[in-house]
Amino acid sequence: MPTRQAISLRKLLSIFLIPLFGCFARLSAEGPSGRDSLKIGFQPEIFEQGQVVMVTVTGEQGIKRVSGRFRDREVYFQRDEDGKYRALLGLGLRIKPGQHRLEIEADFQDAQAQKVYRDISVSRKVFALQRLTLLYPLSEKDLLRVNREKTRLDKIWRKETRKRLWNGGFIRPLEGEWGSGFGLRRMINDEPRSPHTGVDIIAPEGSPVRAVNSGRVVLTDDLFFSGNSIILDHGQGLYTMYFHLSKFLVKVGQKVAKGDIIGLVGSTGRASGPHLHWGVRLQETRVDPISLLSLPLQ
Ligand SMILES: [Zn+2]
Repeated sequence: MPTRQAISLRKLLSIFLIPLFGCFARLSAEGPSGRDSLKIGFQPEIFEQGQVVMVTVTGEQGIKRVSGRFRDREVYFQRDEDGKYRALLGLGLRIKPGQHRLEIEADFQDAQAQKVYRDISVSRKVFALQRLTLLYPLSEKDLLRVNREKTRLDKIWRKETRKRLWNGGFIRPLEGEWGSGFGLRRMINDEPRSPHTGVDIIAPEGSPVRAVNSGRVVLTDDLFFSGNSIILDHGQGLYTMYFHLSKFLVKVGQKVAKGDIIGLVGSTGRASGPHLHWGVRLQETRVDPISLLSLPLQ
């Protein structure tokens, strides 16, 4: 059968060609000019589902531009004050464990452009399981509302502001005890439901919630599950979410700086008590907000 042959040939090719290309990539990174090689660093160096990874590209002084691609998406490299090019990669909660290729291309002032590849080996992460009992299932009307809101949010995630609006390291939105963690798998009335895609921070009603980095407000609204919700766009496909608020202190379209108070803690929407649910989306992937805090960004 021709199809089966084609598949096995492809498999064979990938087995032999991937190591070859990997080798070629390293050779080309050193370059024929004998100058410094292109250096690619990752932080952290262990890749797990639901993680944000910072990629740093350094090399010859004359780097003019760095661009990249990962899983069919553009990777936004930007030159920081220290002369290094940095970008954030989102290894989403649902990324397939295994090898994923990162392609990086660097343009130089006075040398040929170089293209290098790195295979990122993503390992499976096992998230805890929580069983919940819900006595009153959602009504038809509630379900329609939930679906409408999902469509509206998906539209936001798809939009990528090319400009980087965040600046330097990320901060916690508020002090308080960590509640339910990221990725927690949930069974409601013995049926699997969507996992917990943010982290909860428990704090008294009315506690101030701060913008974790600079950006622009793209949503302030009362949503079915998340109650009074704020979404900030930090540019280059990075969004942060702040749910269950008692009060909004910003408006859609407003620019915010890192540390600005944007709202107050509450228990609106489906919340069992006052807390902040903090979520992060990076290029349509769901990532652990805590992994953003530990990045040594300039
Ligand atoms: Zn939550």
